[in-house]
Amino acid sequence: MIVKTACFKAVTSIFAGAMLFVSLSTQAADRTKLDGRFIQGGMVIGQTEKGAKVTFQDHELLLSDEGQFVFGFHRDAPESQNLTITYTDGSSETIPIAIEQREYNVQRIDGLPSKQVSPPEEIMVRIRDDNRQIGEARANITDEDWYLEDFIWPSVGPISGIYGSQRILNGQPRQPHYGIDIALPTGSPVVAPASGIIRLVHDDMYFSGGTLFLDHGAGLMSAFLHLSKIHVKEGQFVKQGELIADIGATGRVTGAHLDWRINWFENRIDPALLVPPMPK
Ligand SMILES: [Zn+2]
Repeated sequence: MIVKTACFKAVTSIFAGAMLFVSLSTQAADRTKLDGRFIQGGMVIGQTEKGAKVTFQDHELLLSDEGQFVFGFHRDAPESQNLTITYTDGSSETIPIAIEQREYNVQRIDGLPSKQVSPPEEIMVRIRDDNRQIGEARANITDEDWYLEDFIWPSVGPISGIYGSQRILNGQPRQPHYGIDIALPTGSPVVAPASGIIRLVHDDMYFSGGTLFLDHGAGLMSAFLHLSKIHVKEGQFVKQGELIADIGATGRVTGAHLDWRINWFENRIDPALLVPPMPK
């Protein structure tokens, strides 16, 4: 087995000089204010006029009663994406959002036996069924604004895996790691990082084992993987900080840990960008 680790830039920016500018936490247009992380994997909260129609990446955003909304950027989001707002007076504006580009850790492993690369058919059947249930859970888009809460860590412990890293096995790029891994013993508590509605409870998915989805509203959803026990039911509302599950080592893992992920629709958000630094 040959292991090569390389750090490379996913997209080389020709606007390197603009990097500092795009890291600023606010981008403003005339009648709309945006706050957040303008970086791949980042999430942004907007404030506009009530009744406005806001679109980003072909999604029409759900506005809160106060005119707030949320959107985010995928791991490999381009340098710029447009936010379009149509106000109730009929006028509209298009705001180009500058997105800072990141570097991710990429590891190449060659010479693996082929069964580790492509699962057999009976496993594929199970994986497809898991994916169908995941798709159905993600299709729940709620007109709620729990995403406005300041997110907290669902578990406090050593970070053993980060967002964006990727392995290339026998030359085939695998799905990048979209979560943050927190290494703690089986049975350690997992709490809701923000309030929401439980959308998926599954005891034993092939890859992710005990799996839980928590919907924070308007297309923003947390996932918690490899759980040993789940304390909540689908459709249940949970408040931020409430115990929802126990950490485990279920699914395809080598040891007990929590893998916490966040989606905004199909975009993978980096959970570490939503919370303060991990407490010591
Ligand atoms: Zn993980």
